[in-house]
Amino acid sequence: TKDRVAILVPGYINPRVIARLNELFDIIAVPHGPTLDISDEEAALVRGVAVSGALPASWIARLPKLEIISNFGVGYDGVDVSAATARGIMVTNSPDVLNDEVADTTVALLINTVRQLPQAEAWLRQGRWASEGHYPLTPLSLKGRHVGLQGLGRIGIEIARRLEPFKVKISYHTRRPRADVPYTYHSSLLSLVETVDTLISIVPKTPETTGSINAEVLKALGPNGVLINVGRGTTVDQAALIAALRDGTIAAAGLDVFANEPNVPQELIGLPNVSLLPHVASASIPTRNAMADLVADNLISWFTTGKALTPVPEMRQESA
Ligand code: NDP
Repeated sequence: TKDRVAILVPGYINPRVIARLNELFDIIAVPHGPTLDISDEEAALVRGVAVSGALPASWIARLPKLEIISNFGVGYDGVDVSAATARGIMVTNSPDVLNDEVADTTVALLINTVRQLPQAEAWLRQGRWASEGHYPLTPLSLKGRHVGLQGLGRIGIEIARRLEPFKVKISYHTRRPRADVPYTYHSSLLSLVETVDTLISIVPKTPETTGSINAEVLKALGPNGVLINVGRGTTVDQAALIAALRDGTIAAAGLDVFANEPNVPQELIGLPNVSLLPHVASASIPTRNAMADLVADNLISWFTTGKALTPVPEMRQESA
């Protein structure tokens, strides 16, 4: 309809986003891909985007009337934010509503990794308990570990607080120390991993974090070392990790995120000392519903009041 705002939805997004937006806007749903296959006339109608995944600069360039990009997820590395800011386009993400879910999943993944609970369950399901006897004792335990967090933001702090009752020691590395925590700060990742035996990564994908967990860091983590990655797969040098897990440079890893999702290297799948999840840290119906609502509410707020609810940090710096 003529006077309704058009919102472009590239690729898959949680259906609740569409259901909410349908009430107020015209939806133009298109497949994800290298090019945006709509006419220039239709592209000129688009004033908002709701996206889960990639929105490259080439797509933004096709949308002359674009005002706002509402990203599904707290990590917005798929959106070309500099292309958006260059044209004064608002970018929003969906922070906070997923903190508890992601932190809960992280603790579960850590325990699954050290205690091999998924493998033990598979043992029971395959009838091996009855035929072969007890599942082998796990060489690793959470007890007495010293956990280092790479990242202590909205999610990292929830992970740290959940770990306190497990009686582990907690330290962290970020670019700037937090004044409100009792945990030991390290100004470099290397200095952190030299002191801890368990590294949990919960940082965004940026040029600085990309490849930061490399062979040197894994070596310093040591033979009793456990790596848990719930941030972004690109943070870890995946080839170096596979080598380190294979030759005992570190003991085990638990991963929810991978360098080139949904492709997980067969070398990783074949290793006995890993626990692997298909990027499900926030993936419960209640949490995804809350994220979907925030994606829709950012667009609704923008087109009714002129204000976004949760602009990404780059936007807040611009308006400050
Ligand atoms: P925040 O922005 O609240 O926190 C990010 C943290 O990372 C801060 O402590 C920040 O501290 C630190 N950080 C940023 N850059 C660096 C760096 N170069 N070196 C060291 N530390 C750094 O983000 P959230 O906690 O909300 O989310 C973190 C990330 O987790 C998201 O960006 C997303 O990619 C990922 N994520 C993954 C999910 C999953 O499903 N697996 C679900 C949700 C999030 P400082 O600025 O001081 O360096």
